[in-house]
Amino acid sequence: MRVVRSISAMQRLARQWQRGGARIGFVPTMGYLHEGHLSLVREARTRVSHSGKVVVSIYVNPMQFAPTEDLSRYPRDLKRDLANCRKLGVNAVFVPSDTAMYPGRAEGNYSTYVVEETLAGRMEGASRPTHFRGVTTVVAKLFNIVLPDIAVFGAKDWQQAAIIKRMVSDLNFPVKIIVAPTVRETDGVAMSSRNKYLVGNLRPQAVVLSHSIKLARELVKASAKPVSAVRLNTTVAKIVSAAPDARLDYVEFFDPETLLPQKQVTRGSHMALAVFVGKTRLIDNGRL
Ligand code: AMP
Repeated sequence: MRVVRSISAMQRLARQWQRGGARIGFVPTMGYLHEGHLSLVREARTRVSHSGKVVVSIYVNPMQFAPTEDLSRYPRDLKRDLANCRKLGVNAVFVPSDTAMYPGRAEGNYSTYVVEETLAGRMEGASRPTHFRGVTTVVAKLFNIVLPDIAVFGAKDWQQAAIIKRMVSDLNFPVKIIVAPTVRETDGVAMSSRNKYLVGNLRPQAVVLSHSIKLARELVKASAKPVSAVRLNTTVAKIVSAAPDARLDYVEFFDPETLLPQKQVTRGSHMALAVFVGKTRLIDNGRL
C-alpha cells in the first residue's frame, strides 16, 4: 500500500494505473475510520474488482468547518487508519497537508470555490452556511488529484451525496457516484467519528436520532393516508426532548432525489434530522 502525500505524486500514480488499464475506485474521508468508512472501501473494491485500484483519502478539510466548529479537536489516528486500509487491500492512501491542498489560503491567496446553489441551502446548509461550499470544493479538487472512475459516499450524509451527484452531473466530472448504506452500532446509532465525543451518559442518548426515524417510519406505515410533516415533527421533538442532554436542531421530510420538502409524508419519503447531544452535533436520515 502506498501512502501518498504530494498532489503531483498522486496524479502521476493515478495516470500510470490508468495507462495500465486499471479502474480507480475512490473513498474520500476525514479519517478516524470506523466500520462505516470501511464498508465504503469494500464497496469500492467490489466495483473496480481485483484488477482495479482503491484509493482512500484522509484529509480533515478546514474549508468545511466554520470557525466555531470542532476542526482543531476533530479525532485523528492515522496509524490505525493506515493499518485498517492495509488490511482491506487498499492500494493507496492519499494524506495531503493543508499547505499542499490550499497553498496561500492563510495569506488570502485562495479564491476559487465550487458552489452548488439549490440543494445546499437547506437542512445542513441552513445550520452550517459555508459547509457544503467546503465539501464540493474539496471533493472537486480530490477528483482532479485522484482521477477516479468511481467514488463511494455514505448514505449517512444523504444531502452531501445528493449535492456531489449534482456537482458531478452539472460539471461533467467523468466519475460514477455510488451511495452505500449507513452502518450502525447494535443500538441503532449511526457510526460517526464524532461519536467519540459522546462520553458517559451522553452516548446512550444518541439513540434519539435512530429512534425518531424508526417511529416516524412506523407511523407512516400504519397510516392509510399520508401523515402531515407537522405532526411527525411534533412526535420527533417529543422523543428528542425526553433525553436530558439532547436538543433538536432540525428535522425535515423530503423527496429523496430532489430533497424538496414534503408537507404530506408517505412511504418512500425521506427524513433527516440533526440533534445536539451535549455539545456534539449528530445527524442521521432514513427512508420512511
Ligand atoms: P467523513 O470521514 O465523516 O467525512 O465520512 C467519509 C465518508 O464516509 C462519507 O461519504 C460519509 O457519508 C461516509 N460515512 C460516514 N459514516 C458512515 C456510516 N455510519 N455508514 C456509512 N457511511 C458513512
